Amino acid sequence: MLRYLVLTFLALLPAVYLDAAEMAALRRAAATIMAGDLQAHVDVLADDSFEGREAGSRGGRAASMYLLKELESRGLRGAGDDASFFQAFGDGYRNVMGLLEGSDPELKKEVIVLGAHYDHVGYGSRRNSYGPFGYVHNGADDNASGTAGLLETAEAFLQMPSQPRRSVMFAFWDGEEKGLLGSKHFVANPTVPLKNIVFMINLDMIGRLRNQQLQVYGSRTTPGLRRFVSEINYESDLRLNFNWELKANSDHHSFIAKGVPALMFHTGLHDDYHRPSDDSHKVNSQGMEQASRFLFGVAYQLADREVLGPFRAQGQNETPSHQRQLEAALPPARPRLGVRWYAESDGEGLVLAHVERGGAADRGGLLVGDRLLEFSGQKILDKVAFRRQVLHARSPVDVLVERPGAEEPLQLSIDLDGTPSRVGIAWREDQAEPGTVILTRVVNGSPASIAGLKNGDRVYEVGSESFADGTEFFEALTTLPSPLEMTVEREGRLRAITLDLPPLEAS
Ligand SMILES: [Zn+2]
Repeated sequence: MLRYLVLTFLALLPAVYLDAAEMAALRRAAATIMAGDLQAHVDVLADDSFEGREAGSRGGRAASMYLLKELESRGLRGAGDDASFFQAFGDGYRNVMGLLEGSDPELKKEVIVLGAHYDHVGYGSRRNSYGPFGYVHNGADDNASGTAGLLETAEAFLQMPSQPRRSVMFAFWDGEEKGLLGSKHFVANPTVPLKNIVFMINLDMIGRLRNQQLQVYGSRTTPGLRRFVSEINYESDLRLNFNWELKANSDHHSFIAKGVPALMFHTGLHDDYHRPSDDSHKVNSQGMEQASRFLFGVAYQLADREVLGPFRAQGQNETPSHQRQLEAALPPARPRLGVRWYAESDGEGLVLAHVERGGAADRGGLLVGDRLLEFSGQKILDKVAFRRQVLHARSPVDVLVERPGAEEPLQLSIDLDGTPSRVGIAWREDQAEPGTVILTRVVNGSPASIAGLKNGDRVYEVGSESFADGTEFFEALTTLPSPLEMTVEREGRLRAITLDLPPLEAS
């Protein structure tokens, strides 16, 4: 027991460590991000007068002026060329960038970049539009939505009584639609030393939230990131769809290519994507509010965290098919006893309806029609408890049966198949998700299945404690008393699960 506690202490720092007052301040600031304000920005940026905000065009420059005014009026510092808000490049293109200085004298030299591209495809052409061409492509979702989210997130930071330890840069990229030009230019010509940029979050298309589903890319670019964002999602209750694919399809990629851990939030493609019909009345402003508040929580807590993880280069080569392999369920375990019984047996015990050929019960001499009275010296009173007992029993086990035609109950000894399990789960571990087990099997009728655990679930805590690895997790399962609490994550949502387990063995 002592060993367990010591190991727990050495495990990862908890992701969310803010005290109650800080959490309250964070919630108040997040609540200032409002659907109406977000919609108002989208209405402006996706108005026909901005002519689709193509990089280098009149409309593109008008959009950059709008962003300049917004950043200046909020009192951010210019983070572009010569401490201005613009970083000029290419054929009249410009990134718009502001900086919020961190509060820690040392850590403030480190920077978290929050970015969104503000350009779109103008009037649309064969190269960048699904048509019809020649009409203003307003790009309300792509990416006036992310631009609006970033503006309101900056506002929320300024509502905080104190700033996080690290500095935060708000970067509005130009030329994304021409090949990630703005973010590529920035990482090649950074206005703060690239080595000081410790994390990047990209918002690209957050205007079409459906079924609460937010796509999250990049969760494997530093260890433990999935757990970190899921613990913050406790506040917003989004369904996080973690996607392992990392392609050069938006600005987070420019940072990942330079070895900076990065995330992208995205609410998914739709029929109006890169068409003139991507208009502002179609965005889901409540969904933008949720996504932006979530961004704020993640960004603030990353910027304030004591230690950030290293870049995980392998993340770049992992694909959705690797993800399916990691999360694939194991084949069902062989039943330990191999019997079925009549659902409604009257009298005590259970009457066997089926005995699997070659299974443990068959080998031990049990027959269809036998009434099981006792298992391992205990009367069989309820089916749930009986299943639990079979799963947990050590082999061999004595059973007492009443057989039709026999005068006395028979005592049989049975060699159970498989290994004893108190909970009824199997799991995998993965280096990108330390301190986590990923469930790969939940035995039917087991305490785990009754408590609602499913394949693919991540377990982060057992008995209210984090654990370092699967060995320590296993130790907790076999030494902690019932009922046992677990913190489980599914689709980025945390839930507390209580398992009703067989008592610990006296040994
Ligand atoms: Zn985009």
